[in-house]
Amino acid sequence: MPLRFYNTLTQQVEDFTPASENTVRMYTCGPTVYDFAHIGNFRTFTFVDLLRKCLRLNGFQLNHVMNITDVDDKIIRNAVARRLSLEDYTKIYTEAFLEDCASLRLERPERLSPATEHIQDMADAIQKLGDSHHTYTSEGSVYFKIASFPGYGKLSHNDFSGNLSGARVDVDEYDKADARDFALWKTPKEGEFFWDTAIGPGRPGWHIECSVMAIKYLGETLDIHAGGVDLIFPHHENEIAQSECLTGKARQLQVLHLCDEPRHVVWVAGDRDALDHCAGMHGVLCERRQHRSRTFCRRHLQHDSQRGKAERARWFGRQRFEHRLRLRAITQQQRGAGRLERTTRVRID
Ligand SMILES: [Zn+2]
Repeated sequence: MPLRFYNTLTQQVEDFTPASENTVRMYTCGPTVYDFAHIGNFRTFTFVDLLRKCLRLNGFQLNHVMNITDVDDKIIRNAVARRLSLEDYTKIYTEAFLEDCASLRLERPERLSPATEHIQDMADAIQKLGDSHHTYTSEGSVYFKIASFPGYGKLSHNDFSGNLSGARVDVDEYDKADARDFALWKTPKEGEFFWDTAIGPGRPGWHIECSVMAIKYLGETLDIHAGGVDLIFPHHENEIAQSECLTGKARQLQVLHLCDEPRHVVWVAGDRDALDHCAGMHGVLCERRQHRSRTFCRRHLQHDSQRGKAERARWFGRQRFEHRLRLRAITQQQRGAGRLERTTRVRID
């Protein structure tokens, strides 16, 4: 009996057959390393790990690529605030993410692909989209013109008829001609990191990185594209638009998403503090790694008891303090090595 998956694109359960022989070409969206990954993120990565194991048990070989988003608005803002280079800032959270994955025994994809190693590829792709009239420039930033891709909305099955073309909106603090359009390349603001490229100074938008790296390492079509349900729109919808305009081919054979809401994170979300949320999972895994307390996770999952809440609050406070100490130590180390002059320009030859 063939393996069958629910395909978000067709909204059908379908037999799965990879396009070329027995190797599955799979792309999944990885972490944005601006902070520690939280328990909801790891739920998605665990889903991907189970998918990998399921495919292999069914006799398939894997060629799986996952990106590491190591440049975005939050990363830049935090790195500048900490007076660290992008590389030094994201290294902390990339290493923490990989350590946490190892603790959860998640398999590593065949290729992990950091976005900042593919800036030239992204600039080339944006140039190519511009040559085929899928983009426009506004105040130095480059946007994808949704109206140029009639298939927009086919993944999320959204009806965009209510969106007024020509209405100017200010999303991400950039000007767009149409509410649905999205940034491919963002012009730098004062004091921000940027790359000098043929399409001008700036940095890539989030969506373009996945299209570019998937095409580069897996080819013009994929067998599986997977991710959390929160990525269906706009991220994966935008990826499909870019990729199909770049290649002229239908992008995915099957698109899988983790389908339900991550209700089990309530005990963390209840603390209403983003830093607690993020530091919590990493801290739990560190604690587990160091074998300080084998009962730690069990105690902290007892969210309904007053004692458990007080204990968790104390523990999160300690995590925040340790996190601040770690960042301070890195900053002092950088200052000692004379590397704290702000790096705001990276030239690509
Ligand atoms: Zn992605």
